[in-house]
Amino acid sequence: MSIAELADCDVLVVGSGPTGLLAACELLRRGIGVRIIDRALAPSTAPKALSLWPRALDILTELGLGEQVRQASTRIDAFSYYSERRPLATFRFTPELASRILPQPATERLLTERLHALGGEIERGVRLLAVDEPAASGDLRQSDAVEVLLQHSDGDLERARVPFLIGADGASSTVRGQLGSAFQGSTYEQSFALVDTRIDGELPADQVQYYQAPTGTLVIVPAPGGVFRFLTVLPPDVTEVSVPMMQSILDERGPRGIRITEPVWQTIFRVHARQATDFRRGRIFLMGDAAHVHSPAGGQGLNNGLQDAHNLGWKLAAVIRGESPAALLDSYQPERIAATRRIVRDTDVQTRAWMVKGRPQLLARDAAFRLLEATGAVSRWYAPVMAGRRLAYPPVRPSQRPASNSCGLRRRLPSGLRLGAVLPQRLLAGATPATPSEWTLAVLAGSTGNDWLADPDWLAAGRPLRIVRLPADAAAALDCASPGYYLVRPDGHIAAHGHAEDVDRLAAELDAVLYRQTQSAQAQGRSDSARQGRSDTAKVRQEPARRPADPTAGRTVEYTHDAVEYAHG
Ligand SMILES: Cc1cc2nc3c(=O)[nH]c(=O)nc-3n(C[C@H](O)[C@H](O)[C@H](O)COP(=O)(O)OP(=O)(O)OC[C@H]3O[C@@H](n4cnc5c(N)ncnc54)[C@H](O)[C@@H]3O)c2cc1C
Repeated sequence: MSIAELADCDVLVVGSGPTGLLAACELLRRGIGVRIIDRALAPSTAPKALSLWPRALDILTELGLGEQVRQASTRIDAFSYYSERRPLATFRFTPELASRILPQPATERLLTERLHALGGEIERGVRLLAVDEPAASGDLRQSDAVEVLLQHSDGDLERARVPFLIGADGASSTVRGQLGSAFQGSTYEQSFALVDTRIDGELPADQVQYYQAPTGTLVIVPAPGGVFRFLTVLPPDVTEVSVPMMQSILDERGPRGIRITEPVWQTIFRVHARQATDFRRGRIFLMGDAAHVHSPAGGQGLNNGLQDAHNLGWKLAAVIRGESPAALLDSYQPERIAATRRIVRDTDVQTRAWMVKGRPQLLARDAAFRLLEATGAVSRWYAPVMAGRRLAYPPVRPSQRPASNSCGLRRRLPSGLRLGAVLPQRLLAGATPATPSEWTLAVLAGSTGNDWLADPDWLAAGRPLRIVRLPADAAAALDCASPGYYLVRPDGHIAAHGHAEDVDRLAAELDAVLYRQTQSAQAQGRSDSARQGRSDTAKVRQEPARRPADPTAGRTVEYTHDAVEYAHG
């Protein structure tokens, strides 16, 4: 048995499902050394997840996969509900909020191609068996690595020490088991069955249809290539999925005249609503199905895993590169646990609606759907939630908020844009694109132009911080009357907002999240921390941000963020 010593790897990713693949890509594109392993000898061909919602599409677009996803997928413009075959309600999605349908193997293939282009390679047939001393406290200074035991497909055992470990190893996660993290929640009593098939007959290719009947709900999802997914809760006396069984449910509840002709996949599965009590312990992180599982209602599972990977990738890279303090990693768990709790709750409500039994309950459910359609509540309020457009990571430090209440609720920017939400990218159109590790300081200067907002460049000195001057008409989109700023994280979320008088708050916030380094210290710190994976102990020279007495003095600082070279290793 060999013991690999920290090797040239900063992070070991366990699992090459969509979550692990995205995590690896997010790290690799920021110059981090990644090893990604999977116990399976070949990629899975099961088309489990079909839906990609707009926020997931943003994430894939950022990775350079947007066009390929759009070309390979189909768009869903509406969810249509029927009650005993009578039209009940239709909820339409605007193109900006519509989901795309792409079978999971295609999403994984695109991510794998991107991984290869970034220099990564999945080590297949390598299983994580154990994690040593996983229960160590969350304090990174107590250790400099995680020790893992791996088994190769030929039986060889390998011990490896890695600075950071990501468990993206699915619902039965070994990493989660080794951490001793509970998987709290419940399992639905009923089993679910699905058949993916080509059909004889006509069904809309741009709508998900829900055929609700007293015996249960049949969901029909159109997929690319003329394939349709028929999904239902299994009748109590049925234990196996078969085409005749699904055909008889389709005949009983669904649209008339549809024949299942060419099944491509069928399966039966139990549905759980569970989430791990810990998404992180010290140098070990859980994400994707390893951290949470929920009903396929609403098609959120894969999307949520991608959001975990997107949330952690830039943070871990910034800490390893010595650009940010290790405390940045502390936000991963609370941010993702809160987001997941909401998804588990919402998908549970939808799943229970599928399982309603009894005439009074059915009538109440149908009335609720009619009301939702009449009020437009789903299209207006819930569609943005499903699309991932309402996701916001609430501020935890006073320096993230403006001191005054002059733009309404301090936690909430007017026009529904919340502090912690994603800043609409169209506001940054025309600016030089950010590098993957760059933060953005978007400033809206006042008409007089005589405060620091007119010349904020000094704040970026020694930091990976892009300054973008917002045009005056952006105020209408942001609906914040005061001149001010929006500090945006590399993942697009607004980390802080304030006004002209809040410059000290902004400086404090920048100090909390980004080291300010001299050029030489930065280069040194980055290579040390990346090589050793001891980012928290890497000694980089940190200087407090100093506002120049004369704002124009910012132009003369010898080192600017534009000079940073973002790759290492
Ligand atoms: C029937 C069905 C329908 C679904 N529909 C949707 C949908 O429409 N939309 C949606 O968003 N989601 C859907 N989901 C959920 C979605 O498939 C999952 O959320 C998604 O696969 C999770 O991705 P992951 O990368 O976290 O985990 P997985 O895809 O499970 O990948 C985990 C990987 O880890 C590997 N692994 C496991 N243990 C080890 C180990 N010890 N060592 C090394 N490797 C290991 C496995 O081989 C696997 O490749 C559906 C799920 C099912 C079952």
